[in-house]
Parts: sequence; C-alpha cells; structure tokens
Amino acid sequence: VLCLSQLRELRCLEINDQKLIAGAGLCWSELERFFESKVPEFHKILKVFGSPQIRNAGTMGGNIANASPIADSLPFLLITDAELELTSSKGVRHVELQHFYKGYKQMDLMPDELISRISIRLPRKTDLFRLFKISKRRDLDISSFTAGMRFNLKQNRFEEVRLAMGGVAPVALRLKETEKWLLGRDFSLETMKQAGRRAVQEITPISDVRASREYRLRLAVNVFEKLYYESNPQPATQSA
Ligand SMILES: Cc1cc2nc3c(=O)[nH]c(=O)nc-3n(C[C@H](O)[C@H](O)[C@H](O)COP(=O)(O)OP(=O)(O)OC[C@H]3O[C@@H](n4cnc5c(N)ncnc54)[C@H](O)[C@@H]3O)c2cc1C
Repeated sequence: VLCLSQLRELRCLEINDQKLIAGAGLCWSELERFFESKVPEFHKILKVFGSPQIRNAGTMGGNIANASPIADSLPFLLITDAELELTSSKGVRHVELQHFYKGYKQMDLMPDELISRISIRLPRKTDLFRLFKISKRRDLDISSFTAGMRFNLKQNRFEEVRLAMGGVAPVALRLKETEKWLLGRDFSLETMKQAGRRAVQEITPISDVRASREYRLRLAVNVFEKLYYESNPQPATQSA
C-alpha cells in the first residue's frame, strides 16, 4: 500500500495561458477553492461531490484511477481535453484521458505507474460551458448520469464542440459523432433536439439501482435542450 498524500511532486497547481497543470495528489477541497473563481461551472459540481470529509481526502488522481463511469470529474476533464502524465521508475509518458479507459475499470495504466499530473485546457470566457450531475438526492449521492458540453460559437454557428457523458456506457466517453455533426450548424433549438437524438446512438446505458436505461437515454436527449434554454433568456421567443 502506498500513501501518496505527502508527495510534493503530486501537488503542483500551475496555469500557463489557458492550460492548467494540476498534481494528481491535490484533494478536492483544494481544487474546489481554486475552481471557484477559475471555472465556477466545475465548482458547482465540486460543491456536491461527496461531503467535506470526502473532499478533504479524495484526490483528482484517485477519481480518475478509480475508473468509475460515473466519477464526477470525468465529463469536465473530457471536455477540457485532459492529458494524464503517468510516471514510473522507468520514466514518464502522456495519455489523453479520452483514450485512457479501455473498458469497464480497465485503464492504460501499468502496475508500476502513478498518475502524477493532469493538464487541461481551461474554458475561454466566450465558451458555452455546462456540466450536469444527475442523482436521486442533491447531496452526498452517487451520480446516475453526468454530462459536459463545451461549445465555441462563431456568428451563432458551432465552431468547436466537446461533448462527454458518464453513466451511459462502461466508461465515461466523448460523443465524437455528435460533436462532428454539430460543427458548422446553427445553434438553435431544432439543432439541439437533433443533436440529442444523435447522442443516444453513441451510448449504451444499462438499468441499475440508480436509474433505468430509459431514464438515462431521456436525460441524454434533454441536456441538449436544457443547455439551449439556459443559454437563451427568452426561450419562447427564440424557439418560435
Ligand atoms: C462516502 C463517499 C462519497 C463519495 N462521493 C463521490 C462523489 O460524489 N463523486 C465522485 O466522483 N466520487 C465520489 N466518491 C468516490 C471517491 O471519493 C473519489 O473517487 C475520490 O476522488 C477518490 O480519490 P482518492 O484519492 O480517495 O482515491 P482512492 O480511493 O485512494 O483510490 C482509488 C483508486 O485509485 C488508485 N489511485 C489513487 N491515486 C492514484 C494515482 N495518483 N495514480 C494511480 N492510481 C491512483 C488507488 O490505488 C485506487 O485503486 C465517494 C466516496 C465515498 C466513500
């Protein structure tokens, strides 16, 4: 058993331009304070991540290596193009998070490797950036479904798109086909409805104690419309 909590090498926190490099050993309470001003949307998720005690002990590296498809940090990390630095006595290598999970609880991580640092591309002020955590209770509950959406629009058209969901497949994943389909299209209610219908073709949720397959499919459609309505103060006028 290794205790990583005192390793200084796992505790860095640096911003270089829009790139954030965070040590895998930082606990969620430390990250919660950091993200409050830097990415309030992620801070919103961290506020309901476990309890203060869990956030004081749990780390970002542990959340990633635990490899749960409903780990709360994963949609955020996937839509910010997270890259993992993996360190062993043999050296260092880098793996994009989107390629890290190979199947349920299977990772591209050797037995002698640690996740040492995580680098992410912070959202720009102009990005539409939304994260969703759906659980039966708001506080201290495991997610049934998670999602992250990051859009950059130019003249109301999608110029850059990142979509990720958790709780809908054996691993948390990017929705690459729907991302591609959205590029160049108008940001409209109709587009978002169609995107939701496409998204469900990329996921394979199951029914379990937290939610049924049908409910998860419905959520995967609805988050697109929800984002649209939340981004448009007068949805009735906009959708007319
Ligand atoms: C009551 C309770 C509530 C919780 N609530 C939530 C929640 O709301 N959302 C959520 O996402 N999770 C939740 N969790 C799960 C857990 O707390 C988090 O996933 C946390 O981030 C795990 O971090 P840790 O450092 O404690 O990892 P550990 O539990 O210590 O480790 C998890 C796994 O990762 C490995 N590991 C840890 N660090 C590294 C590293 N740097 N490199 C390689 N492997 C590593 C360990 O060997 C182990 O296999 C909860 C857990 C409990 C008990």
